[in-house]
Amino acid sequence: MLVALDKARFMGLRRPSYTVDQDKCRGCMVCYKAFNCPAITPNGDGRVVIKRVLCTGCGVCEKICPFNAIKPIGHVDERWWSILGLT
Ligand code: SF4
Ligand code: SF4
Repeated sequence: MLVALDKARFMGLRRPSYTVDQDKCRGCMVCYKAFNCPAITPNGDGRVVIKRVLCTGCGVCEKICPFNAIKPIGHVDERWWSILGLT
């Protein structure tokens, strides 16, 4: 991710940020306890939030949430996926 972020900076790309839709989050904690991304943290009411400053934009959390509660904020530039080797 550090290499990807460096490439994005060089290309003038902003990394995407991800957010948790509080209406969809069921508090299953798969993202927090099993996946354990450091950017994901409990919000105090049984659900989770993503701390934007710690989010690298890797997008894995979007794939692992069983309730589709995690989404990018806004459009993700296709070049970002290319940098990550996902296109
Ligand atoms: S995996 Fe999805 S539903 Fe479960 S706590 Fe995380 S964001 Fe909420
Ligand atoms: S996009 Fe990546 S770094 Fe950001 S919260 Fe999801 S898994 Fe964590």
